[in-house]
Amino acid sequence: LSEKLGGILDRLTGRGSLSEADVDAAMREVRRALLEADVALEVVRSFTERVREQAVGATVVKSVTPGQMVVKIVHDELIATLGADGQTIDLNAVPPVAIMMVGLQGSGKTTTTAKLARRMTQRDKRKVLMASLDIYRPAAMEQLAVLGRDLDIPTLPIVTGQKPAQIAKRALEAGKLGGYDVVLLDTAGRTTLDEEMMSEAAEIKATANPHEVLLVADSLTGQDAVNLARSFDQRVGLTGIVLTRVDGDGRGGAALSMRAVTGKPIKLIGTGEKTDALEDFHPSRIAGRILGMGDVVSLVERAAANIDAEKAARTAERMRKGQFDLNDMREQLLQMANMGGISGLMGMMPGIAKMKNQIAAAGIDDKILKRQVAIIDSMTRAERKNPDILKASRKKRIAAGAGQNVEQVNKLLKMHRNMADMMKAMGSGKRGPLAGIAQA
Ligand code: GDP
Ligand code: MG
Repeated sequence: LSEKLGGILDRLTGRGSLSEADVDAAMREVRRALLEADVALEVVRSFTERVREQAVGATVVKSVTPGQMVVKIVHDELIATLGADGQTIDLNAVPPVAIMMVGLQGSGKTTTTAKLARRMTQRDKRKVLMASLDIYRPAAMEQLAVLGRDLDIPTLPIVTGQKPAQIAKRALEAGKLGGYDVVLLDTAGRTTLDEEMMSEAAEIKATANPHEVLLVADSLTGQDAVNLARSFDQRVGLTGIVLTRVDGDGRGGAALSMRAVTGKPIKLIGTGEKTDALEDFHPSRIAGRILGMGDVVSLVERAAANIDAEKAARTAERMRKGQFDLNDMREQLLQMANMGGISGLMGMMPGIAKMKNQIAAAGIDDKILKRQVAIIDSMTRAERKNPDILKASRKKRIAAGAGQNVEQVNKLLKMHRNMADMMKAMGSGKRGPLAGIAQA
């Protein structure tokens, strides 16, 4: 999508602010991309309308093309729609806390039940009981029992002839008696959205009064995602969604559809068949998937907000000439801090990621960046231009001005020397731009 949008809008001359015509052209591409990503039609409509409202007349930030600007607006709206980070399973209730899984057959309910049990047992140190309420397929209960044995997590003993709601009741009684923190109820799905499944799920819910009702849905679900989520939410009442098979090549559209129609948070994602393949949901990742462009957006975003391209070019020119003084260094440090610091940069540039250990060993973090800027700020103009004049008394004054000690001033000066040397040698291309810092 980003390439397509970029292509269209870069041909337009709409600098300054986005015109209605620019946005309309872009919206056609956005609509197509969302449909390709399997977002349900009705959600695509409301989504593009919201983006359109924000985009018309929006100012195109300097150093970013109009196409990139639209991508950013689309991306931000995707994140806003997908909801906040860090939605978790709520265990804040009188134990045993019942959690019920619902969804179509084959969506991953049983697997997710085991994954969740594993996470709560191993990571959260909870005592968990699993119960299968799937009375239709004889193998279903056995499937959960096998997973339980592998994980060393108890499952409710199988008793034939009971209805799902009765089993749920028995599971909660066993949970209470056995002093369990959590009871996971794995219900039976059907191949289609049918009335029998809905009334059964509603009955189980009424009996077990679960604290969470999680819709487990395959991320490859296409247009049906809307009906699926809406029906379950209306008939049973959901507290959250678990998206499975995110390891596959689905483009994440189902996440947007389900979230948009129910307003219920996506709490977890399944990323594989094994029981450890369960992760927290991060809207930005799914947004990237829907747009099909990884971290490009965040790069555009940060660049737009923070980098003055001309200033950077001037600094680069000075570096090339070997005139890298403390003013230039201050500029570099500020840019780095604005771009999310070292960690932010490393996340975006694969080359720099390799130096992670080196940088960590040097103890560089964002707080240090700010501190270093403060030191430079308390120098005079002459000192910044020519650090050689910095003798002991000046260093003492600077350290006091920045609320730090002389040792830290010396460290900064050493780092500057390293950087300046490295800049000169950069033509040889042997080392990355941060090598000097890592050695300071
Ligand atoms: P249920 O009918 O809803 O209980 O579905 P199951 O839990 O039995 O899962 C159906 C199939 O999907 C099994 O083969 C699982 O191994 C597989 N599965 C479940 N979750 C995931 C996932 O996140 N990724 C992948 N690749 N496979 C999954
Ligand atoms: Mg099952």
